Amino acid sequence: MSTLVEVTDLIKTYGEGEAETRVLKGLDMALQEGDLAALLGPSGSGKSTLLTILGTLMQPTSGRHVMLGEDLTRAKDTALTEFRNRHIGFVFQFHHLLPDFTALENVIFPTAIAEGRETAKARSRGEELLERVGLGHRMDFRATQLSGGQKQRVAIARALMNQPELVLADEPTGNLDRESAEQVMELIGEINAQEKTTFLISTHDEKIAAACRRQIKVVDGKTVSS
Ligand code: ADP
Ligand code: MG
Repeated sequence: MSTLVEVTDLIKTYGEGEAETRVLKGLDMALQEGDLAALLGPSGSGKSTLLTILGTLMQPTSGRHVMLGEDLTRAKDTALTEFRNRHIGFVFQFHHLLPDFTALENVIFPTAIAEGRETAKARSRGEELLERVGLGHRMDFRATQLSGGQKQRVAIARALMNQPELVLADEPTGNLDRESAEQVMELIGEINAQEKTTFLISTHDEKIAAACRRQIKVVDGKTVSS
């Protein structure tokens, strides 16, 4: 196995002067290709902050961030956007689907925007992914007509559109009932096993974390891995 992404001595501070809070305090973490890892920690411990940095959506205050051999720490915004579109997928606690768009439109929309048009290739990839997440029979349903678990599966299909090496999921089951949450975790496990996509899944649910192969805990702004 080789290292997919590594952060070293990561520091992230919000605010200034008296309002300054240091959230990440010299955090080190690495993910190997094909990892299925849970990111655990209580609310406010910095899980979303870390995922946002790993997703290149925010720069750390200091520290180093390398993914696929590229040092992203001082990369320019345009380079980061391109890197993110090619290599990273996101799933959030709230699915952020466009309510009046169909499941299929939701999956292919970001790619269509990035490419400036909707291609036949993107459409067939979207269809294939919806089949993959068990929603082949719901492709033309609007987002509002889907259950919470189904919406989250559409969000997973959308995250996989560009065949990212890394999917960052921020509390993807936080808004689901137990049964739907377990189904979503099962699906993530299958995709990880079959496609070797690396997943980092933040959660404060120990049972969800136990469904992952590794658990990484954020404790006082640093990580403790197992
Ligand atoms: P978690 O996802 O583990 O709940 P977060 O990364 O969201 O933790 O937040 C960690 C800490 O950083 C919290 O105390 C939160 O209030 C603070 N924080 C997060 N985002 C911001 C921001 N944009 N500005 C100021 N403080 C923030
Ligand atoms: Mg969070």
